[in-house]
This record gives sequence, structure tokens and C-alpha cells, in this order.
Amino acid sequence: MMTATELLLTGQVQGRGVRPALARLATEHGLAGEVRNTLQGLSVILEGFPEAIERCVQQIPGQLPVGTQLTDMQRRDVVATNRSEFVIGRDDRIGPLDTPIPVDIGVCSNCLTDVVHSDNRRFQYPLTTCAACGPRWSLIRSMPYERDQTTLAEFPLCEDCQLEYRNPADRRFHAQTMGCPQCGPQIWGVSQHGNSVAAGAQAIEAAVAVIRAGQIVALRGVGGYQLLCDAAKSAAVTRLRIRKGRLSKPLALLVESLPQARQLADLSPDECGALTATANPIVLCRSRGTGVAPEVHPGLSDVGVMLPSSPLHALLSHQFGGPLVCTSGNREGDPLEFEVTNAEQRLQRIADFWLHHDRPIVRPIDDSVVRVIGGRPVTIRLGRGLAPQLLPIRTTASVLALGGQQKVACAWSNGQQAVLGPHLGDMETLASRDRVVDQMNDVQSLYRVQFDAFTCDLHPEYFTSRLAPHGQSCVPVQHHLAHVAAGMLEHELLDRDVLGIAWDGTGLGTDGTLWGSEFLRVSPDFEVQRIAHLRPFPLIGGEKAIREPWRVALTLLMEALSPEVDVSSLFPGVDLMTIRMVRSFVRQSDKHPQTTSAGRLFDAAAAIAMSVDMSGFEGHPAMLLESIADHTAAGEYQLPLTESAPIQLDWRPLMAELWSDRRNGISPGVMSMKFHRTLARGIVALGCRFASLPIVLSGGVFQNRLLTELIIELAAGTLLLYFPGRIPPNDGGLAAGQLVVAARRLQTAMRT
Ligand SMILES: [Zn+2]
Ligand SMILES: [Zn+2]
Repeated sequence: MMTATELLLTGQVQGRGVRPALARLATEHGLAGEVRNTLQGLSVILEGFPEAIERCVQQIPGQLPVGTQLTDMQRRDVVATNRSEFVIGRDDRIGPLDTPIPVDIGVCSNCLTDVVHSDNRRFQYPLTTCAACGPRWSLIRSMPYERDQTTLAEFPLCEDCQLEYRNPADRRFHAQTMGCPQCGPQIWGVSQHGNSVAAGAQAIEAAVAVIRAGQIVALRGVGGYQLLCDAAKSAAVTRLRIRKGRLSKPLALLVESLPQARQLADLSPDECGALTATANPIVLCRSRGTGVAPEVHPGLSDVGVMLPSSPLHALLSHQFGGPLVCTSGNREGDPLEFEVTNAEQRLQRIADFWLHHDRPIVRPIDDSVVRVIGGRPVTIRLGRGLAPQLLPIRTTASVLALGGQQKVACAWSNGQQAVLGPHLGDMETLASRDRVVDQMNDVQSLYRVQFDAFTCDLHPEYFTSRLAPHGQSCVPVQHHLAHVAAGMLEHELLDRDVLGIAWDGTGLGTDGTLWGSEFLRVSPDFEVQRIAHLRPFPLIGGEKAIREPWRVALTLLMEALSPEVDVSSLFPGVDLMTIRMVRSFVRQSDKHPQTTSAGRLFDAAAAIAMSVDMSGFEGHPAMLLESIADHTAAGEYQLPLTESAPIQLDWRPLMAELWSDRRNGISPGVMSMKFHRTLARGIVALGCRFASLPIVLSGGVFQNRLLTELIIELAAGTLLLYFPGRIPPNDGGLAAGQLVVAARRLQTAMRT
């Protein structure tokens, strides 16, 4: 007696080779039927003997490919229709997209083996993929995920590939992005003068020769261009920095293998896990201080390392043999370049050679960055392999969250699913602003949605705060509430009162001042009570105060010690006139914006301990300070809590003691350690007053591994502590928090 049953699988079930795996399993059990990608997930019909169907159904959860996330499997009986075989079908129904869009997957070991064996027909073919690996998000034109809806539709499979595609025993069975040297996309190299010089393996050889000569290659990678040079050559790294305009930010490294990564960095098992994960991110790990030029990560103890994301990267780094600088292919401040013509034009003054491929990229995406903190990977930049990230937000509203001003990433819900999108960049240039608008349009068609509400930061001057179309409702969300809400979302604390600790650079507060060290009691309805913050101080010179941390140091020392404090010996690079001017501004401090920024407190500490008078980028002094910390040093400074409401953490004794240590010749490493321990102790002391609440850490300051791990250590056994993980603690995670707050407020507004 033949029967039939239909299964509906939901979760991350597309783009991972689930259909071929199920087809194989069903065939093994002698079953006929069909499996289809649908807008909701995956539908499977199994037809055959009831016992065989039962055995097959039971085995399904255990037989799904790596990276699949099955959230639900519903089952119903259907009429048997005498099917004779098991087929992979398709579904093109119209409706809102319910299933997650697959992320890009780093090259698998099988594909790497293929390209290095000379008897394999894909020997040295740099763009090979299979059902288990390859780009997805960056080349999907529309869902469901089928070859003819990706950019590979332009590359019809040759006969050999078709045989593999149709063979259930082959690992390219229904692999949508597969191809070979005969039918697939190709690479070619172009020299400075615009001549196509080589194709295939010769193009890689030419690129390697250019790099060996100390020059710069623009490589079209998975999600866009990357700039490569020899990481061991100071002159090459400096040339890249100057041409790109990236003078001080650290540069990431591409290495061929894990053993090569170990030569450059001390890797913990967690860091090895992060490096070899299918997401294939850049992992920030402790540098050994050897093997690369000091210009790669000047003054910083961590170095960003990445393994090859595609066979092209693997072949290139194998031929080169050593670590390569591998950084985003853009002019500093602009978004990532991803199209051939644009890249040649806009990177003309940066690159000496282009290594292109003709597999179109629909959606540019930067490399992801993670840092292992407290034993687990924390997302620093959500990009290739990690974005889009599913968010556990249940809402029927169609909302777009626009993020902030720096490190902008959007989040959205189409009423069926909610996701956090990839890093887009800082909103400083027209090109990066255009990229945000492009993405708004793209996600509306990709997710089949017209947004009927928007949410943005409370700051009216942010570019993203002005993006909601006229007449559409836009919910502004306070910056630090958004950070805390992102943490509540990540840790499933949306139904609890929490103490949120949001420490970062600055964000506009509800009182019009610049907040940045907030202890917020937040309810499930996102009612906020400001419990505590650092003692406020004037920010002299606005943006200048960020670029020149000595200004903040002077401000804080004048208040902590005396208006006459003499800092000229600390900052020999700053002329006396400017010091005198800032000093007079501090005396009229009521004319300047007040801030409670923890980021600026770090800047001041770095300025006093290390004489840092200029900052290359936001957070730079704090990174330098964390890097020099002497982890063996004992002691700490004082950071008393006031009995006011809100409570203030009074930094005056801390600044006075830092100053005295500096004058007494205490080493910067010891001062840094004491400073970090003081802040950790202050945060934990404040947390202890609310020990019954879950405590959620968020904000860019908690990218600092030393501070966060000190807090974890000091809070052990006393506080219920939740620190950042998948959602970036910096402003890249802001949109996730905005989205969950806006969804709740829209829901409440609809009820009343
Ligand atoms: Zn593969
Ligand atoms: Zn082929």
C-alpha cells in the first residue's frame, strides 16, 4: 500500500545543498516524490511504503548538510499519485518572502582539492563551487534560490557539468552556482595601462609577479574588490596606505592556511574555530609581532587574519607563499567597489594591476570581522558569510531600520522575517550615502515588500535620519536604547526588565546632551530610566576633540586637578597657543556641548598615559591603550559613585591619579591596566546595585577585549551578565535595536 506525506521545513534551509541531500536520502529508502525550495522554506513530498517513509522522516534532521538550521518540520498526509522517481522541483509562487536568504559560504576543502590536482578537470579553475560552498547572497537576483535567478544564469552548464548536476551521487548534484573552465565564469588580468594581459592561471601568475615587485593588486573577490600587497614589505604597505588614504587603521592579512596563520598570531582554539568557519571572516587575534611589516597594524597588539574565501584567493596566496595585505577595495570613506569598469576607474590611482572575473556581483559585501572575547566570537563587522543575519523579531509590520551615521547597516522586517543587513560604511561621502539608498530599493524587491514604516536614530542631523520618504511614519529611537535593545534581542531578554550598559563614543540623549556611558533600566515596553553615567564634561571643539584627544585630556585634568595644570610637557607636538586657547574655552565650559562619552574618557587616558595627541580614527587611542596594557600589573585607580540621581561615576580621582603616575614615571602598560581595571570595577560595582536584573553590555567600548574580560572576571558568580556576540556591539548593530523597539511601538500604537 503506497502512501504519501508532505513535510514543510523552515529555517536556514536554502543554499546549503539540502535538496540534493534529501533527494539522496529518499532514494536510499526507495521513495519517490519531490523536494522544492519555496518562499517559506522547503517542501518535501515522500511517496512509498509507510515504514520506509517513517524511517526516512526520522533520519532527515540528522542528515542535513553543515550550516543548515532547521527551526521547524511540519508534516501532513497527502494523496499518493503513483510517482515513479524522486525529483527536485521548483516553486515560483508570488508572496512575501518567508525563507531566509542564504549567506555566502567560504570555499570548502573538496573544492580546494579539485583545483590543486592536475588530473581534475577543474585544476586551477579559480571560480569553482559546489552545493556546500560558494557565493549566494552576493549573486542572488531573486528568491527562491535557483540557478536561473542568480547571476550564473548567464553561464549555461556544459554537458559534463550537466551530468554532475543531475547525478545524485555527485557533490554538485543541484549545486546552483557550479561551473567549470569550459562553461563557467573566467578571470583575467589588466595592467595599469588598461591592456588585458593574461587570462586564467597566467593572470594569477602576473598578479603574483606584480605583488612580488612591491606593487598593489585590485582583486575582484566574492563580494567586491580587495586591495592586495606583500605584507612583509614596509614600502609596499606604506604605498597602499598613502594611495588609499588609510593612514592608520589596521590592515587585514590573507594567509593560505591555518599553519601560516599560526606563524603570525597566537591562536586560541576559539580563534581557530572562527577562522575556519564557513563564514570565513577576518579574525582579530594576538599578533606574534613577526612575519609582517610593522606598518600593517602599527601600535596594535591584534592583527586581522583571514583564510582564502574562494579558490581564487587560495590559488593566489599559494603561489605567493606568504602573508598578503588584503583590505577593502575602495577609496577611504567610499563604499566597496564591485563592478569592473567602476573599479578600474575609481581605483586607478591605487592599484597597479587588476585581477577581474566576470561572475556578476549583484550585492556588494565587505569581509566580515570578528574578535573572540570571553571565549566566543563577537561580530565587529557584519559582512560576507554572516549577513544577512536573521533576527528573532516577531512582527507583521514592514519596517526598515536605518542605523546611525558611522558603520551604517540597515535592518528590516517584511512582516514574515526580520534580518540585520551587511555593513555599508560611514555616511561621510555621497557614494556611501547612495549605497544606502540602493540597498533600500534592492531589499524591497528581494524581500517582496513595500516598507510602510521606518525607524532611525534620534539625532536629526544624521543622513539616515532624513531617509524615510515624506509622509511615511518614522520612529526615532534613542542611540543607547537601540544598543541595549539589540542586546536584549540577541539574548532573548525582551520580556524582562534589564540593566543595559551602553558605552560608546557619543549618541544624542533625550536631554539634548551627548550621551556615551549609559546605565539604562529598560522595560519590555522599552520604557527607559537613566540610572547612571560618567560625570559629564564639556567637549571642546566638537569633531576636533575626537581627532585631538589631548584636548579632552586637558579638559578633564583642569577639572580634576587645577585650571592651571601644565600639560605642555606631555604633548610636545601641540603648540602653546592652541593649549592656551583650549584652556580658555574650558573656563567657559557652559558654552560647549556636555558629554558623558566613555570613548572620550579612553581618549583622555591614552593621551595622558601614552602622549597620544592625534587620533587616526574613532576609537584609535582606545585601541592603542588596550594594546600596551601590561596584563601582569596590579592595582587600580579610584572611580567613586555619587549618591545623586542619576548616579555619576566620578572620574576626577581617576584622572588625578593617572596624571600623578605619569609624572612619577610609571610605565604606560601599567597605567593602562590600572585604567581598564578601574572601569571594569566601576561597571561591576554599579551592576551590583541591580543584581536582580539581567545586565546587558552593548556599545562600541565593549569591542575592547581587555575591559570586557575584566568585567566578566569581576562579575563571575554575582551578576547575570550578557555581553555582545552575533549582533555587532558598535553602531553596526544599532539598526537591529531600532527595529525591535519600533516594531513594539508600532504594535502598541495600532492597539490604542
Ligand atoms: Zn565546495
Ligand atoms: Zn562545465
